[in-house]
Amino acid sequence: MISTDLSASFWAASAPAAPPTTVLEGDRNVEVAIVGGGFTGLSTALHLAEAGVSCAVVEAGEIGFGASGRNNGQVIPTMSRADPSAMVAKFGKARGERFAGLVRDSAQILFDLVRRHGIDCAAEQTGWVQPAHSPGRVEKVARRRFEEWRALGAPVELLDGQQTAALLGSDAWFGAWLNRTGGHINPLAFARGLAQAALNKGAAIFTDSPAQSVERAGNGWRVRTPRGSLRAARVVIATNAYTDDLWPGLKREVVPVFSFQMATEPLSDNIRKTLLPGRQAMSDTRGDLHFCRYTQDHRLVTGAPLLWRGDMDRRLRAHVAKRLQGLFPQLGEVSFSHVWCGYVGMTTDYFPRLHELAPGVATWIGCNGRGVALATAMGPELARWAAGDAGIDELALPATPLQPVPAHGLAKRLSRGMLWLYRRRDAREV
Ligand SMILES: Cc1cc2nc3c(=O)[nH]c(=O)nc-3n(C[C@H](O)[C@H](O)[C@H](O)COP(=O)(O)OP(=O)(O)OC[C@H]3O[C@@H](n4cnc5c(N)ncnc54)[C@H](O)[C@@H]3O)c2cc1C
Repeated sequence: MISTDLSASFWAASAPAAPPTTVLEGDRNVEVAIVGGGFTGLSTALHLAEAGVSCAVVEAGEIGFGASGRNNGQVIPTMSRADPSAMVAKFGKARGERFAGLVRDSAQILFDLVRRHGIDCAAEQTGWVQPAHSPGRVEKVARRRFEEWRALGAPVELLDGQQTAALLGSDAWFGAWLNRTGGHINPLAFARGLAQAALNKGAAIFTDSPAQSVERAGNGWRVRTPRGSLRAARVVIATNAYTDDLWPGLKREVVPVFSFQMATEPLSDNIRKTLLPGRQAMSDTRGDLHFCRYTQDHRLVTGAPLLWRGDMDRRLRAHVAKRLQGLFPQLGEVSFSHVWCGYVGMTTDYFPRLHELAPGVATWIGCNGRGVALATAMGPELARWAAGDAGIDELALPATPLQPVPAHGLAKRLSRGMLWLYRRRDAREV
């Protein structure tokens, strides 16, 4: 069996300790209540506290318990499917380009926060690279994305087959595009560091304090937890793929897809001379994504989804070891020290969503596997709204009405079947 505990992750084994926090007891008044202690909730709290706005976070588990503590830690300044031209097509030129600007700047925003607050999270701003797994994908994805992001002023580069092979230490790909502002972090360490920075600035954070309801109270709202409540003028729901039944219909807006992560044993100096010698974070163009990045102690962290359950731990280790050896023959034997998992929140159109659920209650949801940088960058956006400095329509991600996925239960069951389709398409592409 693969443990679903956050403690099974390599990040939990290597991150600095979380700052001390307590359960919410009794009733408190704050200007802004935040539900969820991942990158979104913590970055929102930090930016509110820096602006002198009183706020408190209630987290059901521990800091970074959701996707923020479990992900691959790749800091990626793009969305998975939605490119700038698609953003313009969906939101119109001005709003689409503004959202693209937020995505373009998102990795830089994260690394600047790390530096500004001295967050100890093994941050490496070495760049993020997307290699193309077929010649067709060089034209259809790498070149097009390079050109679209270059037109928006992003520091991007287009690499031919030889340059890609030298950058990655592999001839498994045909070309690539690269954004120098990306990179990687220990994500649980980053979440804990964000929490410490928010506490330092005066925010309150309560753990093991699940919000059970959000109710109107006078002109504002009351967020109830088992042993206390927060009374606030505004509420930010920052629960993303880990959303429960707190707000009617919200959890039906994303399909939570189970994803496995795993860390190898540390690689030798000799192997590292050729395998990703520049230590970029890498995710390729496959639907069944091939991806990896180094840790501070020189492990590769990678992963994969599986088509069916049953004997998962053994099958996953064998499947991913074979995949890595195929991509990087210089690896030789591969063994994994840690295997863990988490939920990625997918929307039907691969776009994230921002909602004002009721006057004074806002949320964003649907990272589509690209939320490390974006969730962090949404923090200052949501903080401007929560502080009353901007209306919901003035934020960089355009607000839309709630759109629950029709037949959500069925969509959840079918989502694993999508992997089979992706694999077929990946294998057939030229
Ligand atoms: C396995 C995996 C790998 C990924 N890899 C990458 C990657 O390499 N790069 C990238 O850009 N993105 C990646 N992602 C996506 C990224 O991790 C997320 O988009 C991002 O962490 C979302 O942050 P968040 O704060 O919005 O949500 P979360 O971190 O999920 O936080 C939500 C929090 O809300 C809490 N919560 C839920 N309900 C309640 C309640 N009722 N009361 C109180 N608290 C509640 C949860 O406990 C949770 O801690 C990955 C995701 C996964 C799962």
